[in-house]
Amino acid sequence: MTDFIPALSNLPTPSAQRIALRVVAPAERAIRQAHPWVFDQSIIEQSHSGVPGDLAVIFDSKRKFLAIGLYDPTSPIRVRILQKGKPAPIDQNWFQEKIKTAAALRASLQQQDTNGYRLVHGENDGLPGLIIDRYAETFVIKLYTPAWVPHLKVICSALAQVHPFERLILRLSRSLTKQTKYLHGLSDGMTIAGQTPEGLLLFKENGLTFECDPINGQKTGFFLDQRENRARVKNLSKGKSVLNVFSYTGGFSLYAADGGAKEVVSVDFSTPATEATLRNIVHNQHLPNVRAAAFETIDRDAFEVLAEMKENNRRFDVVILDPPMFAQNQAQVEAALSAYRRLTILGLAVLKPGGVLVQASCSSRVDADSFFNAVHRSANEAGRFLREIELTAHAIDHPISFKEGAYLKCLFAIAA
Ligand code: SAH
Repeated sequence: MTDFIPALSNLPTPSAQRIALRVVAPAERAIRQAHPWVFDQSIIEQSHSGVPGDLAVIFDSKRKFLAIGLYDPTSPIRVRILQKGKPAPIDQNWFQEKIKTAAALRASLQQQDTNGYRLVHGENDGLPGLIIDRYAETFVIKLYTPAWVPHLKVICSALAQVHPFERLILRLSRSLTKQTKYLHGLSDGMTIAGQTPEGLLLFKENGLTFECDPINGQKTGFFLDQRENRARVKNLSKGKSVLNVFSYTGGFSLYAADGGAKEVVSVDFSTPATEATLRNIVHNQHLPNVRAAAFETIDRDAFEVLAEMKENNRRFDVVILDPPMFAQNQAQVEAALSAYRRLTILGLAVLKPGGVLVQASCSSRVDADSFFNAVHRSANEAGRFLREIELTAHAIDHPISFKEGAYLKCLFAIAA
């Protein structure tokens, strides 16, 4: 049996008394169509008030069971649906079944020499507001709502039953770290089972070795969502010069080199990220193509570096642009689109005629059509015509089950 830190056993447990709710008709319809969220404004009747993590049962207009979910009075997303249609006890068994289903979906990754991937992708795997990532024998569980706190021990025990691990690390979303009242001693980055790692962890993605810092790193330590796009870059890099902009720890860079790129330049303004890139290059020296590639890292602002490369007539066969999220909310969508347009123009300016542009967006507020249109329009303005190779979205371990869950889109195109 896995031993968890004592703090996990001292967390409050969900109230035995479930909250009963009724919601407006459109919300009822949305729940029937498997939308995972019930907003505070949709609630028209509620039996009693509750605390984060209490279970709420939603009844339909005929007072029949509609769904059960996690109640969170601190969020406009008042209930996150766990199960609809028929009642079920929400216990360790129930969580185990969910995690088992999620694990089965990802089984094919094991054959790809990959042991770093997302095991549970929140809403999209039926566990709203909860992420579980795997990095070899370390798992990272990330919570986005205090409603998971009273269920943490049970979900961790369920995980241990489905997939044994050496250690489990807890990450909390930025907003949750501020809700100390509901954390009961839990903190971001805390090891909740096994030994705290002494250094960085190593894991494999498509046969390449990467390090990750699950305690302090961005997301849970690595951008697992780009694995398939990286593999696409590998396939088009043979003999090429590749510019990887917003490179973080060099994911795309290593794949490009492994695919036979002769030169790989990585740009990220974070010095720890470019230092990690250099270490990731070292971790893969056993691969002949990686050993043969010429690498350069530049820890400066991407927009400035691109402008300078243009001035200096530096050109590449492949340009990858994978910036951070530009739009946090609806009000920022226009500014985000304009930043994407600016990047396309800057990226194309350093891309040789006939070279490949790879441009991604991870802003969920910017829908795929608007993003792809913005890229095409800017290319036309720049006098370059883009012939699409592929438009991609989410990888197998980042499934999407509702509209708001879609965030990643990426264009691969040859620029005339
Ligand atoms: N492509 C990466 C993930 C990119 S995340 C991967 O495959 O892992 C976005 C990265 O952009 C972060 O590492 C962040 O440090 C960097 N970044 C954000 N703004 C930047 C800027 N203006 N110039 C350079 N890097 C920037």
